[in-house]
Amino acid sequence: MSVVTRFAPSPTGYLHIGGARTALYSWLHARQNNGRFVLRIEDTDRERSTDEAVTAILDAMAWLDLEHDGEIYYQTQRFDRYAEVIAQLLAEGKAYRCYSTAAEVEAMREAARERGDKPKYDGTWRPMPGKTLPEPPAGVDPVIRFATPLDGVTVIPDLVKGDITIANSELDDLIIARADGTPTYNFCVVVDDMDMGITHVIRGDDHVNNTPRQINIFKALVDSQIGGNSELPRYAHVPMILGPDGKRLSKRHGAVGVMRYREQGFLPQALLNYLVRLGWAHGDQEIFTREQMIAHFDIANVQGGASTFDPEKLLWVNQEHIKAAEPEELIDELAWHLARHGIEGVDQDDLIAIASVQQGRCKTMTEMAEQSLFLFREVAEYEPKAVKKHIKTATPDLLAQVRDTLARLEGWHAEDLAAAVKGVAEGNEVGMGKVAQPIRIALTGGPVSPSIDDTLVLLGREATLARLDQAVDAFRALKAG
Ligand code: GLU
Repeated sequence: MSVVTRFAPSPTGYLHIGGARTALYSWLHARQNNGRFVLRIEDTDRERSTDEAVTAILDAMAWLDLEHDGEIYYQTQRFDRYAEVIAQLLAEGKAYRCYSTAAEVEAMREAARERGDKPKYDGTWRPMPGKTLPEPPAGVDPVIRFATPLDGVTVIPDLVKGDITIANSELDDLIIARADGTPTYNFCVVVDDMDMGITHVIRGDDHVNNTPRQINIFKALVDSQIGGNSELPRYAHVPMILGPDGKRLSKRHGAVGVMRYREQGFLPQALLNYLVRLGWAHGDQEIFTREQMIAHFDIANVQGGASTFDPEKLLWVNQEHIKAAEPEELIDELAWHLARHGIEGVDQDDLIAIASVQQGRCKTMTEMAEQSLFLFREVAEYEPKAVKKHIKTATPDLLAQVRDTLARLEGWHAEDLAAAVKGVAEGNEVGMGKVAQPIRIALTGGPVSPSIDDTLVLLGREATLARLDQAVDAFRALKAG
C-alpha cells in the first residue's frame, strides 16, 4: 500500500514552529516512501478560522518548500459529504439524536463525578435493544452523538509512543453534529482521513486524547463500508516543543510564526534542518541537506519525550547553511531582504557576487542584506567614531593617491586592486591599515566591510572613484576645519 500522509492545520493563526515540524515530518515520511503528502485546511470552526490565516499558512508552506500533492482540501467545502455519512450512521443506529440540554448533560457529569466515575453523558437518548426512548421534546434541535462501543478496548498503534490502550468505557458518546447541523472536528477528521486514503497520521501529541474516539468512528465507517479505505491509519504522535524555560513553546518565547524567522534572516533549509533534529537524531550528524533528511529520517525514531527549542543552536545551523550554500541558493532570500530595504531589481549576477563574498561573514540573511546596503546607497555620512580613529591629517592625500592609482588601472580585478592599494601603502611607508580603513570609511561610511579588494570589486569602478573623490574633499575640509 502506498504511503499517504497529511498536514491538517486549523487556520486560526500563523504556521508556528510546532506545526512546521509536524508538516516536515509528514512531508518527509511521504517523500521517502514515494508516497503522497496531502494538505487539508481544517476550517470547520468558522468563528476562529480566517482567510488571512489560510494565506499565512500557505505562504509559510511555500517558503519552506514543503510541497503538497494534488488539490488543497478545505473542510468547509465538504459539508455535503459529512452530512451524507452522518445520515448513514443514523440510519444504521451507529449514531443517534440526543435532545438533552446542556444543563442536563452537566448534571449527568456531576452525578458521575459524585459516584467517583469519569464525567460522561449518561446515554439517555442512546437506543438500546428493549429500551424505550423518551418522547423528543417539541422545538428542540437535537445534537447527534456517536454510539461509542460500551465495552472492549481501543488500541492506538503509535509509531512514536508504542501501542496505547484505552478502555472504551472511559469514552463518551461524543457529539458528531451540533444542534445547528454542523459536523464536529473529531468526526470530519475521520471522514477525511478515510476518504483521502491517509495511511499515516503524524501530528502533535496534544491530539492523543482524540485518537481513540477517532479510531472508533473509523471502525464504524469501515463496518458501514463508507469510503474505500478500510485499513486504520498508523499514528505518530509527536511530542511538544518546549521553550528554554521548560514551558510549552509560545509567544512568550519570542518568534513562533515561521515567517518571523524569515524576517530574522533564517534560510528555509536551515529552519527545516533545525526542526528535523528537534526530537530526532541520525548519529551525531547536525547538518542535513533536504536529500539527506529524506534519506535518513525515520518517523519511528522520533523520541517520545518533549524537546527544547534552542535559539542559539538554530542560529548556528543557519550560519552553517549560509556558509555551505552555493551562492545561487542564497539569492532569493538575499533579494527578499534587500527588497525590505527598498532595494529591488538587483541583477542576478550581482546578487551571486554579493552572496559569495558575504556568505562567510554572516550568521543571517538579514545581516547579509544590511552589510550589503552600502553597495546600493550613497554614503551620506561618515561614522564619527570611525573618523576620529582612522582619519588622520595625511589621510586625504593617501586616499587621493589611491584614487589616482585605481583610475589608471586597465581593468577592475581583485588582484590588481589589492596590489594597487598595497603599492600606495608601501610608497608612503605606512601600514596597510592606514590606507585600508580610510578606504572602507570612504566607500561605506563605516569601518566594517568585506576585504578591500572584494569591496572594491563589488562596488565597481565608477562608484568607487566617485566615493573616493567625495571622501577626499570631506576629509580635507574636516582636517582644515
Ligand atoms: N487541525 C488540527 C490542528 O491544527 C490537526 C488535526 C490532525 O492533525 O488530525 O491541531
